[in-house]
Amino acid sequence: MTVTARQAGLVACTRCGRVWPADVHTCARCGAPLSSRDPGALQRVWAWWIAGLVVYIPANVYPMLITRTLNYSSEATILGGVIELLSHGDVLVALVVFVASILIPVGKFIAIGFLALSVEKRRWMSEHGQHRLHAVVEFIGRWSMIDVFVVAILASLVRFDAVATINPGIAAVSFALSVAFTMLAAQSFDPRTIWDD
Ligand SMILES: [Zn+2]
Repeated sequence: MTVTARQAGLVACTRCGRVWPADVHTCARCGAPLSSRDPGALQRVWAWWIAGLVVYIPANVYPMLITRTLNYSSEATILGGVIELLSHGDVLVALVVFVASILIPVGKFIAIGFLALSVEKRRWMSEHGQHRLHAVVEFIGRWSMIDVFVVAILASLVRFDAVATINPGIAAVSFALSVAFTMLAAQSFDPRTIWDD
């Protein structure tokens, strides 16, 4: 049985790592505020998570891709674009767009939501499992903006008979916001709470 810093009456500075007695509120070495646990962490996680989910809806409902030929112009949502790419035989590009703009974002929502719930309920997952999931979510979060770039670059590389471009409208803005919000949700976790009883 390991003794945690909190059980030992200590609090660690999250910025510089110096350990202080629990009643010290400011790190005298680096000036960072000290708190044994961040009491609002889970609330902030949920707030960003919900915000991210809300803006992910218009990202999928409004047209993301515009296809133009000489005589017509058509608009497609993310999913519609994937289907259109498939019908053109661009299976690989369709797959990459699907993974970057649907599979990864949805997977992130599920992972962060599951992690927040299991931190709340305590019994859903082992502590080590939660710790690993947190590491994965943090790692993905660092690369989150790649979703946006992949979609933007691929859409411009797609070789339709026509010219396909990203519609710089509601869908693209909401998608970028959704990525930013889920990143903030992942960052709001206080991983120390994972190890509390
Ligand atoms: Zn410090």
